[in-house]
Amino acid sequence: MTRDETTQGTMLLISGPSGSGKSTICKRLLEDPRVVFSVSATTRTKREGEVDGRDYYFLSVEEFREKRATGAFLESAEVYGNLYGTLREPMQEAIAKGFVYLVEIDVQGAMQLLAGAEPGIYVFIAPPSMEELEARLRGRGSETPESLERRLGKAEDEYRERHRYDHVVVNDDLNIAVADVRVIAGLDTPAGTEGATS
Ligand code: ADP
Ligand code: 5GP
Repeated sequence: MTRDETTQGTMLLISGPSGSGKSTICKRLLEDPRVVFSVSATTRTKREGEVDGRDYYFLSVEEFREKRATGAFLESAEVYGNLYGTLREPMQEAIAKGFVYLVEIDVQGAMQLLAGAEPGIYVFIAPPSMEELEARLRGRGSETPESLERRLGKAEDEYRERHRYDHVVVNDDLNIAVADVRVIAGLDTPAGTEGATS
């Protein structure tokens, strides 16, 4: 397949600590029809309401391992006993068609893509402060006291990796953070520069 450089899209990687606002920001970015979401593969069992191909590609352990052996994944990891991976092929197809291909991924996964020098725009979403991160994780109501502690402990280490990314966006005011990421991704021009002469 030949790729037309003029219509090439890009990978937009969104990473950061749990609770920093990755999902919230990605949801907003996906309101733009030029943005496509990377659906991961996993070996975990499907939860109620989840749809194969929309939430995840649900694979058996054997299928996952076979795919991994053929180099189908850009990165993969075992998380809480299940395998997860970012598939290479859908990304290449979407980028060739000119889409912004949104990869929402934890810091460990992002490091794998960086190590492989995968072309794209790497954005670290930072919370305004560790106190606010804790407040948001508590507010989300998704964590047990143990998992909250684990995530906050990990967040400190993850925050130290932010300099490896192309951009760090502080998610204080959500609208500003989304606007910043849209400019970074080339979906918008910076505020104040559009139509300057008319
Ligand atoms: P992540 O996907 O990084 O784990 P979420 O998107 O789930 O984080 O956000 C964590 C919590 O913080 C959610 O309850 C979300 O509604 C809230 N949140 C996200 N961004 C903001 C923001 N800018 N201001 C206040 N609350 C936010
Ligand atoms: P869940 O099973 O709750 O949907 O996700 C569990 C964890 O797996 C989350 O921390 C999520 O970030 C991580 N995860 C989901 N998809 C991928 C992926 O493609 N690669 C990696 N490395 N982690 C993933």
